[in-house]
Order: sequence, then C-alpha cells, then structure tokens
Amino acid sequence: MTRKAFVVGHPIAHSRSPLIHNHWIAHYGLSGRYEARDVAPDDFVGFLEGFRDEGFVGGNVTIPHKEAAFAGVVHASERARRLGAVNTLWLDNGALCGDNTDITGYLANLDAACEPGWEGRAGSALVLGAGGAARAVVAGLIERGLSPIRLVNRTRERAEALAGIFAGYGKNVSITVHGFEDLPALVPQVGLIVNTTSLGMAGQPPLPLDLGPCRDDAIVSDIVYVPLETPLLAMARARGLACVDGLGMLLHQAVPGFERWFGIRPEVTRALRELIERDLFAGKGSRE
Ligand code: NAP
Repeated sequence: MTRKAFVVGHPIAHSRSPLIHNHWIAHYGLSGRYEARDVAPDDFVGFLEGFRDEGFVGGNVTIPHKEAAFAGVVHASERARRLGAVNTLWLDNGALCGDNTDITGYLANLDAACEPGWEGRAGSALVLGAGGAARAVVAGLIERGLSPIRLVNRTRERAEALAGIFAGYGKNVSITVHGFEDLPALVPQVGLIVNTTSLGMAGQPPLPLDLGPCRDDAIVSDIVYVPLETPLLAMARARGLACVDGLGMLLHQAVPGFERWFGIRPEVTRALRELIERDLFAGKGSRE
C-alpha cells in the first residue's frame, strides 16, 4: 500500500519538505508519496478533518497554521505544548496527534555539528530574536541545561513575553532580557551565540554584532539558511570559532515525522544536504 503524507501551509510553493521526504522515500525504496498542499487559513480546520479521507497518514504543518494545528489535535506532545504550536501530525487509532520537531531539529543539528558535551562546555547562551523560531531554540537550550540564557530582541516586550513563558520551567534556568545595546557586554560572557532573527538572511541587513571579544571556544549558530554562510557565520569562521549553519535544523526537524509515517528513521546525509543546497541556490531562496 502506498502511504501518503503532506506538508500544509499558505503559501507552500517555497517548501523544501517534499524534496527532503521524497528523497528519503526513494532512498529507502518505499512505496510512498509526500505532497505539498496550499490551504488558506479559513479552510484549515476542514483540511484537518478531511485529510484522512484523501488517504494521508499525516503530515507537516508550516506557516501560518502551526498554532491552529495545535488547537486542532486531540493529543499534543509535551514539546508541542511547550511551544503552543504543532508542525507534525499523525493518526493514532484514528485520533489526531501533534508534535513540534523544531526543538529536536535544532538540538540534533548542534549534536551533529559539535563535539559531544558541547552544552556543558558552552554553559550559557545568547539568543538573538524572540519570534516563533526563538521559542523552539530557547526550549531546546533549557532542555540541555544551558543557563543563563541572555535573550536579545529589537522589541523588548516580545522578548519579555518569551522569557515569561519559560519562567519557572527549568529549575535552574535563568533567562534575562536585553536590547541590542547590551550586546558588547554580553558577547564575552557566553559559550553559545544563536541568531534566530531574520537579520543576515538574503535581502536583509546583517546582525549588528561584533564577535571580536567573544570566548575563543564559543559556538556560533545561525538558523537562517539562505545564504548558508550568513555574515554572522563568516565573521565567526574568520575569528576561528565553531560554526553551525541553519540548514541542518531544517533537515533534522523532518526526521521524526518521516519515521512516524513511513516506519523508518531516516538519516540526514551529505547527499541530502547537497540536494537541498542545489535547490536553494538555484535561485529560489526562502524560509520554511
Ligand atoms: P518571526 O516570528 O517573524 O521572528 C522574527 C525575529 O526577527 C523577531 O525576533 C524580530 O524582532 C527579528 N527581526 C526581524 N527584522 C529585524 C530587524 N530589522 N532588526 C532586528 N530584529 C529583527 O520569524 P521566525 O519564524 O522566528 O523565523 C526567524 C528566522 O528563522 C527566519 O529567517 C527563518 O527563515 C528562520 N528559521 C529557520 C528554521 C530552520 O529550520 N533553519 C526554522 C524556522 C525559522 P521583533 O520581535 O522586534 O520584530
């Protein structure tokens, strides 16, 4: 039997998820299909109710439906509840279940790119940005015990709201909120620096951040993946720091869904990365 999964969003043409999952389906010789569905917000609840009748076993959810998907599931994973957003759907005895794999994707990418024990050596983190992606990154860093986490955002209230969500969540975690003017003082203090803003993305200005005074063993991670080497990562590389780009997060967040729908835990390989890189840089750079 051919198993079918989807990615649903609005718009959806930019999504690389079909390329990722159909690569794995072909690689593992499965009888399966992964399709993109463009569904407007007004039609999303109807899509959730009807996808099983179209023969789908589940799928991914992307912008702008992640919160509506969370509201629509019967069972949400602990991580989905933490983020208030669902990006992976499946059916369990007919009941609609949801997970959020952005946390797993972010952490798996760091695990793959850094030496084991990176979190203990880094100790503390500076996170730039307070949007949806920052929420997943901060949740992941709390899971791994990084503290303090210094949260820097242009709109302070948004960072305060994000810090508030996680207040009291990890017993030993401390999250402080700052404006960009505090960066020179914060940069030397932390072992991990993460950009989750859209600054540095193609067409956007670079982050106003000087890595000169940072720790020599600092890790610099950018979740923007167009371009792959953002101005921040270029600066980090020139400074001799460990660099982690954003493409791995996109690839690793896809792993748990594929395993649920198709029964095989797929590998994020060099060949998959190169496939997506070729597609991204054939002139269609975009966000997931
Ligand atoms: P979002 O919710 O719209 O948040 C955008 C963030 O960028 C906010 O913190 C915003 O600050 C900040 N920002 C935007 N323009 C700015 C400017 N001119 N100056 C200073 N700060 C600015 O977006 P998101 O969903 O979190 O996504 C953020 C980035 O992560 C995007 O580039 C996206 O492509 C990338 N991403 C990558 C992955 C992956 O798998 N690698 C996954 C998800 C997202 P304010 O709060 O002040 O507006």
